[in-house]
Amino acid sequence: MRVLILGLDNAGKTTLMKKFLGEPTDTIEPTLGFDIKTVHFKGFQLNLWDVGGQKSLRSYWKNYFESTDALIWVVDSSDRERLSQCAEELRKLLEEERLAGASLLVLANKSDLPGAIDVNSIAQVLDLHSIKSHHWKIFSCCALSGERLITAMTWLCDDVG
Ligand code: GDP
Repeated sequence: MRVLILGLDNAGKTTLMKKFLGEPTDTIEPTLGFDIKTVHFKGFQLNLWDVGGQKSLRSYWKNYFESTDALIWVVDSSDRERLSQCAEELRKLLEEERLAGASLLVLANKSDLPGAIDVNSIAQVLDLHSIKSHHWKIFSCCALSGERLITAMTWLCDDVG
């Protein structure tokens, strides 16, 4: 199962991936290209693609769309200023034909931060309820503690499987 992990830079994509793999999360550098990791989970072999999210790198995202079974869209719940930018980037992705059929897991990350926006408000700003083209679900989570990460990944595997 090919899983593409995308989102704006600093959302916590690499931290989430490392936590899920059981690797230390304290020595993370910005992802400049991409990183692929393979893990076995719920009877699936997951190939996780962590792709850099900086503005200059977003035009390369399309190179990773082919054969994607699942898209994980990671949101920094504490980044109020860029939430509309985050919504816009997601909207563009969902129009991509090569992502048609991919299940969408939205992770409202950094739920531990005091200023984090609640998950329902994020769903509203991202206009998730209007999505008809993809199966989707949103979970709040904390990549540092791993809270709700397994629940969210289980939903994704069940949906794709
Ligand atoms: P990426 O650019 O999306 O890959 O983001 P990173 O994984 O590099 O994380 C960006 C920063 O956010 C790092 O300083 C992480 O330690 C921090 N971070 C990631 N997830 C969380 C979280 O759940 N809670 C908090 N408080 N910080 C987080």
